[in-house]
Amino acid sequence: MEFERFLPDEQATVRLGEDLALTLRKGDVLALHGDLGAGKTTLARSLIRALAGDAELEVPSPTFTLVQSYDTRVPIHHFDLYRLSSADELDELGFEDALEQGAALVEWPEKAGDRLPPAAARIELVEQGEGRLVRISASGPLGERIGRSFAT
Ligand code: ADP
Ligand code: MG
Repeated sequence: MEFERFLPDEQATVRLGEDLALTLRKGDVLALHGDLGAGKTTLARSLIRALAGDAELEVPSPTFTLVQSYDTRVPIHHFDLYRLSSADELDELGFEDALEQGAALVEWPEKAGDRLPPAAARIELVEQGEGRLVRISASGPLGERIGRSFAT
């Protein structure tokens, strides 16, 4: 399944995160593509807050820690791999274990190379005028769930 949608403002990105949270199950991986400032963390934050059922939950960008984990309905691991020095460092972060134990949101997924599971959904944010264009593509069970929930 593949679709794109224009997100005119930050609130639209927040709502997309809330909608995606409803589809998320253990083992799901969402690869968040996009340049610096595209809105990856904004999307991840709203998704995590929706999973936590807490709109005020502190969700810092994992820029320096590389990963932040949350004990939510589905345990969620928020990665930002921008500063990853090598794919080997993923072992130290417990990347594979995290994917088995919960769900994962991965900013800068390119850095994980072939360690990123093939079943990961691809979410790409691109600046467009004042807003963002989001492209989502996903296959398998995750693709079906997202497709059903976003069918228009
Ligand atoms: P990234 O993690 O991709 O570097 P951030 O989420 O940290 O990006 O920052 C994105 C910036 O863009 C924030 O200032 C946020 O308010 C803004 N933003 C998010 N979504 C939209 C949107 N749909 N339209 C306009 N601005 C947005
Ligand atoms: Mg970010």
